[in-house]
Amino acid sequence: MLIGVPKEIKNNENRVALTPGGAAEFVKYGHEVYVQATAGEGSGFSNEEYEQAGATILPTIEDVYAKADMIIKVKEPIAQEYPLVKENQLLFTYFHFASGEELTHAMIKSNSVCLAYETVESANRALPLLIPMSEVAGRMAPQEGAKYLEKPLKGRGILLGGVPGVKPAEVLVLGAGIVGTQAAKIAAGLGAQVTIMDINLNRLRELDDFMPKNVTTQYSNDYNIRAAAKTADLIIGAVLIPGAKAPHLITRDMLKTMKPGTVLVDVAVDQGGCIETCKPTTHENPTFIIDDIVHYCVANMPGAVPYTSTLALTNATLPYALKLANQGWRVACLNNDDLRLGLNVVNGKVVYKGVADAFGLEL
Ligand code: NAD
Repeated sequence: MLIGVPKEIKNNENRVALTPGGAAEFVKYGHEVYVQATAGEGSGFSNEEYEQAGATILPTIEDVYAKADMIIKVKEPIAQEYPLVKENQLLFTYFHFASGEELTHAMIKSNSVCLAYETVESANRALPLLIPMSEVAGRMAPQEGAKYLEKPLKGRGILLGGVPGVKPAEVLVLGAGIVGTQAAKIAAGLGAQVTIMDINLNRLRELDDFMPKNVTTQYSNDYNIRAAAKTADLIIGAVLIPGAKAPHLITRDMLKTMKPGTVLVDVAVDQGGCIETCKPTTHENPTFIIDDIVHYCVANMPGAVPYTSTLALTNATLPYALKLANQGWRVACLNNDDLRLGLNVVNGKVVYKGVADAFGLEL
């Protein structure tokens, strides 16, 4: 199969969908890989590395789309890419169709086959191609929090780990899923005193078994959150209710009860946020202040660490991409339930219920 890897053109997107190591895997199975010039640059991979792996570098995005049977990307195509998508071409990338009506109609019109990373689902209902980005964002959250706790960045001026003779900072993590667990682990590793809350008691039991001594689990309810928010130096929002907006666990009135310079990192901002006063920010301008409380609400946190994010994403996507290339999408989807759930638009028809429902389209 002819595999195309375009350079991401969405603002500030430095990830790439295939590493030179991934390209070598495709070549090993007899496929041809076409990478747009400088596609890997933002993640630290040069054209020469791809060539050494057996890929061919093409100068423009038009060349890549024109050549490929399968396009592997990171973000959904944007308007200028719509006319490049060919009939029957397979696109394997994040689409998030349900929040993109124009994109959905453009892909229907293209008669292509769109397999979305975010709806590939394993038998245990996990989303294997979303997990790596949650892991990255979770591990980044205490790092960003620690930075904005510094006085010159308007924080309380407290070191997460304290020092001998000085108490460490208190970190409150809301949600004990992928993001919350990784955040708690890193904050604890830095020496902070961590409290992690969830409504899932079984999850709290699991965490209690393997987290270090400086992590305490607590049931999540308004009473406990209000009490913990008063003494916390850093609060990390990591709550998710699948298919719904995040609940506002930290409300506007609580800010007045917090210590000035407390930092709030709302990782759940992409689902509306679990902190009432959060609104999405960017890596150029990541924070704002309300009532002396620093808010960090970057909606694409992994974008700041493209090297790690690219490797984490491609570790997860490559085995699926190889199945698609080796067997063709029809057979691969017949043989693999995870991949079949990734199909969203096939030759002019929406085939994923959530997307059809979002826009009143027929399945
Ligand atoms: P997850 O499903 O693994 O975990 C969510 C947890 O929230 C679950 O354990 C659930 O029980 C818990 N929860 C639900 N209601 C709660 C409540 N009232 N109180 C406490 N806990 C509650 O999800 P995840 O992968 O950890 O993702 C968390 C959020 O982070 C999602 O919104 C996701 O989209 C977002 N995210 C953002 C970025 C970013 O760059 N900002 C990156 C990756 C993920």
